[in-house]
Amino acid sequence: MKELILEMEDYAQEKNVPIIEKKSIAFIMKYIKDNNVKSILEIGSAIGYSAILMASATNDAFVTTIERDEERYMECLKNVKKCGLDKKINVVFQDALDVNLSEDLKYDLIFIDAAKGQYERFFEKYKYFLKENGAIITDNLKFHGYVGKSDKIESKNLKGLVQKIENYIDFLKDNEEFDTKFYDIGDGLSVSTWKNEK
Ligand code: SAH
Ligand code: MG
Repeated sequence: MKELILEMEDYAQEKNVPIIEKKSIAFIMKYIKDNNVKSILEIGSAIGYSAILMASATNDAFVTTIERDEERYMECLKNVKKCGLDKKINVVFQDALDVNLSEDLKYDLIFIDAAKGQYERFFEKYKYFLKENGAIITDNLKFHGYVGKSDKIESKNLKGLVQKIENYIDFLKDNEEFDTKFYDIGDGLSVSTWKNEK
């Protein structure tokens, strides 16, 4: 297992796959243990690195993870099998904005880590699948230090993307349904929970 994790880290570096930073996944694994998280939905599997670590945080954590890129999806499936975690991780090959989840399935934790420009859409779509005392964790809110500095970015594409993350942060701060805590860990994380546990 440890060896496979190292292999995945090497593969990610070689192929430029943006896997989660070590401190961030350590934070999430601790959250899973401390809050007795059993059901996890991940948006953006890539090669399965974070899904595998989340599923192995405790004995009874189950992960459904969604990936739209075929090559990464295949790599993810392969890695999940190699770790012997195929009973704990369900990999879905589809665009997360098109997925129709069963409405009676709710999750203790939703981890948003796919296209950064779509964060608000993922949040609005998937909040209906969050349990009353569940949390939505979002990764990459610093986006390599660019967030908060979009006015100084020259590349149009990068600027647009960073502005979307800035808007998402405002959306979380002003949200009427959720309280959000922001953490300066790794590439920036947030934890959003329903206000007054409705
Ligand atoms: N969570 C992974 C990293 C995910 S990288 C880890 O830390 O190990 C983000 C992934 O989201 C990419 O592989 C990308 O293909 C995928 N993605 C982006 N937009 C998506 C969408 N709309 N639906 C599904 N997957 C998406
Ligand atoms: Mg990430």
